[in-house]
Amino acid sequence: MDKIKIAIQKSGRLNEDSIKLLKEAGINLSNGVNKLKTEAANFPMEIFFLRDDDIPQYVEDGVADIGIVGENVFLEKNKKVAIVDHLGFGKCRLSIAVPKNEQYSTIKDLEGKRIATSYAVILSEYLKKHKVNAEIHDISGSVEIAPGIGLADAICDLVSSGSTLFMNGLKEVEVILKSEAVLIGNNTISEGKKAILNKFLFRIKAVRNAKNNKYILLNAPNEKLDEICKILPGMKSPTILPLAEKGWSSVHSVVNEDDFWEIIENLKANGAQGILVVPIEKMIV
Ligand code: ATP
Ligand code: ZN
Repeated sequence: MDKIKIAIQKSGRLNEDSIKLLKEAGINLSNGVNKLKTEAANFPMEIFFLRDDDIPQYVEDGVADIGIVGENVFLEKNKKVAIVDHLGFGKCRLSIAVPKNEQYSTIKDLEGKRIATSYAVILSEYLKKHKVNAEIHDISGSVEIAPGIGLADAICDLVSSGSTLFMNGLKEVEVILKSEAVLIGNNTISEGKKAILNKFLFRIKAVRNAKNNKYILLNAPNEKLDEICKILPGMKSPTILPLAEKGWSSVHSVVNEDDFWEIIENLKANGAQGILVVPIEKMIV
């Protein structure tokens, strides 16, 4: 039987969340995660542990069928692979930073400057788009120290909180890219593997829906039920059950995280009482 091969980061910022994603999709890794390769115990999947930089190439070559990398790595490596899904973790931005006492008002201030980065492809594209000529120094690590040791006038690097920049006396002046982890895929996988991939995607989506939604239960006087049902559309429509106390009902529904507080306020204003909100583990729509 077919098995799908997935490449994930061996160690680093995406490693734990990638393994967590598999776990939440009900995929158990059989033995340890410290090897080059392992197999899922209960899903037709083989897992390869690699450096993130190598993953796009392996997926292009078909050594792995799919892989998890930051969008930044996907764009920088520029391989013939497709983004299959956005995964919502590993969020960061690729930014340009300069020494904090440096005068900076527009991107034109980078004209003729030396910029150190590990993202030469994305940076040169960005500079070209803005018609700025600068010298790109492609270095592989510790980019943030480059201005301090006189190697560069500016840097282009990944930022999340900004504390690394701050500790190195730098300030963020341009955001080039907002990135998160993505699932990339080989462009020509077999029908059998495609079916497995769809199964995997279905599960990932169920987990994501569950995270974005909450199950809500409340008590309401019967004469308010119409208004309350309008506020709570639910997956199809809310469930209404009679309470032992006459004239009252229990209403069950699902609400989206984004509108959550507004809905709660609205419900209270319409006479809802005893509102309970509980997490959902999986949600299939
Ligand atoms: P490897 O040993 O696999 O080459 P690495 O050192 O290149 O690892 P990490 O620092 O582990 O990579 O980062 C992996 C990915 O995590 C990045 O490519 C990026 O998409 C994401 N990420 C999220 N937040 C940050 C951050 N603050 N700094 C760097 N990367 C981040
Ligand atoms: Zn890397």
